[in-house]
Amino acid sequence: MNILFMGPPGAGKGTQAERIVDEFQIPHISTGDALRLAVKLGTELGLKAKTFMDQGHLVPDDLMIGIVRERLQQDDCNKGFLLDGFPRTLSQAEALDEILASMGKQIDHVINLQVDRDRLLARLTGRRICRSCGSTYHVLFNPPHVEGVCDKCGGELYQRSDDNEESVGTRLDEYVTKTAPLLDYYRAKGILRQVDGEQEIDEVTNEIHSLLRGQA
Ligand code: ADP
Ligand code: AMP
Repeated sequence: MNILFMGPPGAGKGTQAERIVDEFQIPHISTGDALRLAVKLGTELGLKAKTFMDQGHLVPDDLMIGIVRERLQQDDCNKGFLLDGFPRTLSQAEALDEILASMGKQIDHVINLQVDRDRLLARLTGRRICRSCGSTYHVLFNPPHVEGVCDKCGGELYQRSDDNEESVGTRLDEYVTKTAPLLDYYRAKGILRQVDGEQEIDEVTNEIHSLLRGQA
């Protein structure tokens, strides 16, 4: 089961990915998470990526393709994987096809979470993330039981530095110009499935489950 989650920033990809990888026991590959870890560790990749990320711009394709190529070659991807946040450009999509073809693999499902732009700003500026386990919350739409504390591991919740109005605006523009055109790329391959991402979190999960289980 090789799955790709598409949708604008704030559509709910990470939230749904946490649940789907639990169910299907496959690795969750988030390029955003990988970059944030690199920034935190101060690696060469992190240093190169930080300014782009802070400003809400995409990180250059060659860096991103390198990360994903390496990650997909790890053994845990043999039973499948869920890619979240990659590809974001046509070059990345074409590179992904080549990487997978060289391994005798392909993408089986592309799930596109559809959410109107108006809602995304509220979702992104209210997002909180656990410093320890990476779980995602929202101060209004998906609050933890105790403010600032992760329900799952007790870790501290924080706000991403790029979840501010200015950076969010740029990220949404980047999505429209560079990433949204990829939907046609996957539609043409016949593997694109649309999901209404404005439903309650549980409803979205149920719809994705049905699609992946071939019941929708
Ligand atoms: P993405 O990974 O696509 O950028 P996230 O999964 O991080 O998006 O979700 C963005 C924010 O919106 C988070 O704060 C999350 O708790 C919240 N959220 C996710 N799905 C929903 C939903 N269906 N309804 C309301 N809020 C949601
Ligand atoms: P995300 O966690 O998916 O919202 O990504 C956070 C930021 O990381 C983005 O705004 C980009 O700067 C960068 N990023 C993540 N994935 C990619 C990608 N596939 N291509 C380019 N930049 C990316």
